[in-house]
Amino acid sequence: GIAVSGLTKRFGRTTVVDGLDLEVGEGDFLVLLGPSGCGKTTTLRCLAGLETPDGGTIQLRDTTVFDGRRGWNVPIHKRDIGMVFQSYALWPHMTVRKNIAYPLKVRGRREAIADGWVENAADMVHCGDLLDRYPAQLSGGQQQRIALARGLVARPGLVLLDEPLSNLDAKLRDQVRTEIRELHQELGFTAVLVTHDQDEALALGDRIAIMRDGRIEQCDTPERVYVEPASDYVAAFIGMSN
Ligand code: ATP
Repeated sequence: GIAVSGLTKRFGRTTVVDGLDLEVGEGDFLVLLGPSGCGKTTTLRCLAGLETPDGGTIQLRDTTVFDGRRGWNVPIHKRDIGMVFQSYALWPHMTVRKNIAYPLKVRGRREAIADGWVENAADMVHCGDLLDRYPAQLSGGQQQRIALARGLVARPGLVLLDEPLSNLDAKLRDQVRTEIRELHQELGFTAVLVTHDQDEALALGDRIAIMRDGRIEQCDTPERVYVEPASDYVAAFIGMSN
């Protein structure tokens, strides 16, 4: 699992993540939910190692990968993390096959490429027939599925997803949401997904962490945040869709 303690990140004089504490159990699906600007993406980018925090500690499994005094202790490619971004971030000049294979290449996993892990990941997201296309030749839903396959191809223990459904229309969003849920159940990774959408959070999360001004206001099961919100802020935010 993940244990985050006192995580802090500032941009200039603005404190975006403000002493955040968070625990995610091994194999759990945690949704980080909150309004625009509360610091969700920055928190996720800190977990991913794409931002360097100004303070706090990050533990992945039993390893302290970051602490405020010494900085990063484990190089980024050795952290066993898969990432899926909102904007897909596929390489336009690479085929789908090369895009999906990229994390394996970076990790030097030639044998995994030879053993068909790329094809396997493409099949998992129902895109096994698209391997020779380029991203521009794909629909939005297909691009997001390929981004998902790329995040999962190295079979990481931790998968971080930043608004992976937000660029999809309502019908596709439901489909891909179900697929994410099924893949999580099948593969057993630990997941942290960022969203501002209450329905998505309630549908996907084993636990939901509601974020406010750079901290977690409440972290609980969907049922409990809904029935027993810890504050008016949580009640207002969770209730918004009703
Ligand atoms: P959204 O859903 O709109 O993405 P969020 O909760 O994910 O919101 P963040 O993206 O983490 O919020 O941003 C939190 C605040 O930090 C915002 O006010 C944003 O403008 C600011 N911020 C984020 N990244 C940077 C950066 N690289 N430099 C300066 N300010 C930043």
